[in-house]
Amino acid sequence: LSKHLQDPSLLKNRYLCDGQWRSALTESVFAVDDPATGATIASVPNADAADARAAIDAAHRALPAWRALTGKERARRMRAWYDLLCQHAGDLAAIIAGEEGKPLAEARGEVDYGLSFVEWFAEEAKRVNGDVLQSPAADKRLVVIKQPIGVCVSITPWNFPLAMITRKVAPALAAGCTIVVKPAEQTPLTALALGELAMRAGIPAGVLNILTADSANSIKVGEVLTTDPRVAHVSFTGSTEVGRILMRQSSSTVKKLALELGGHAPFIVFDDADLEAAVTGACMSKYRNAGQVCIAPNRFYVQAGIHDRFVAALAARSEAIRLGNAFEEGVTMGPLIDDQGLNKVRQHVEDACQRGAKVVTGGKAGEGRFYAPTVMTGVTDEMLMFREETFGPVIGIVRFETEEQALALANHAEYGLASYVYTRDLSRVWRIAEGLEFGMVGINAGAISNEVAPFGGVKQSGLGREGSKYGIEEYLELKYLCMGLS
Ligand code: ADP
Repeated sequence: LSKHLQDPSLLKNRYLCDGQWRSALTESVFAVDDPATGATIASVPNADAADARAAIDAAHRALPAWRALTGKERARRMRAWYDLLCQHAGDLAAIIAGEEGKPLAEARGEVDYGLSFVEWFAEEAKRVNGDVLQSPAADKRLVVIKQPIGVCVSITPWNFPLAMITRKVAPALAAGCTIVVKPAEQTPLTALALGELAMRAGIPAGVLNILTADSANSIKVGEVLTTDPRVAHVSFTGSTEVGRILMRQSSSTVKKLALELGGHAPFIVFDDADLEAAVTGACMSKYRNAGQVCIAPNRFYVQAGIHDRFVAALAARSEAIRLGNAFEEGVTMGPLIDDQGLNKVRQHVEDACQRGAKVVTGGKAGEGRFYAPTVMTGVTDEMLMFREETFGPVIGIVRFETEEQALALANHAEYGLASYVYTRDLSRVWRIAEGLEFGMVGINAGAISNEVAPFGGVKQSGLGREGSKYGIEEYLELKYLCMGLS
């Protein structure tokens, strides 16, 4: 991996605690693999419960001084971090591509997206304002102030190794909180590079701590992070199953939680849609990161009149995609993250075929962990791919007749993260957008996420919103001051 970097010293083999690069207290390490080949590209410390306690100690010690800075001072420090991140954007993209497998150009897109949160929340640090309320009693004055919630924890997934961290760390730091990050075991290197640049930018020791751990130790580290009484807030992006565990563990000390969990997005195309735009939106939202995206559509509902044309156009687009290693020129889709991910995709396609769905294109694995972009028709909601997140480049399509039917099908899910609808009828846009039980609705748009908009879900897709002017509230507590006048 280092041969792809201008500054190879961004590749760290220690974790970050209290401003120092440390080995695990047990000296144990684990390997990081290139998902395309399975080859080991690095090894990093395998943190355990004691390391987690040390990281919380550091974050707790750093809190008073960081909290005491003015918002403007924190904004300046964060801006310095942002500028350094921008200078090293190419290297950050290469690290993402190397450990996550997405094509380099796509990784660069993630860097731009991820860094936008650091810029945005550096600006927002200056805009945390309280309130003066009108008192019902003449002899009182009522004031609301906002204060940082305290020591925070972030547990993040592998599919966006940079953006899922900055979307949590940036608002926490801006608010005046300190934080312990536990990145996914598949993608620790990007996290550590973010930490290295934070240290170079002068973010004080202990404000940002990053613990790397393999899957077994992540459970032990997670247990400490979610039960230590000094931790006030836990932010997690990942599976609904793990989200439930963290919620349960956090209940013993009543921590505030932000959870970005599974999605199972519907993608609805009406007869009157702009066919070209709908196909482009479908490919953009579904094939990004080989379908390993929580807001990727997982269920396609296409009205009878446009169904066959949509399927044909989508199949043609899917066949033009080039699979390959992240660093190869012209590659537009990388591998799946690991064998488990690949097997799930295989299983979903096989299950659908056995139950009568038809493969229009794809439907098979390539070499290694690559899976061909796949379009299937005749899918029904008892098939696995309509009940679970596929997390792969597979598009299963259901033909529908009426608007009521489409809305009922779309809402028939325990998840409620993103949803997409393509139609040119303005009244229908409002009916559907208001009727969809999801936190986000793309209307004639396949790329919906940016730093300005509130990202998050309803139902079992989670709690809270990230990004936007709302995102920083997560890391602030309101305090009410009631002042009696004499
Ligand atoms: P995915 O299915 O996307 O890999 P997971 O929910 O399994 O998502 O993992 C997301 C993050 O949660 C990773 O950082 C992983 O190490 C961590 N994790 C998984 N299980 C636990 C657990 N029991 N406690 C704490 N963290 C966990």
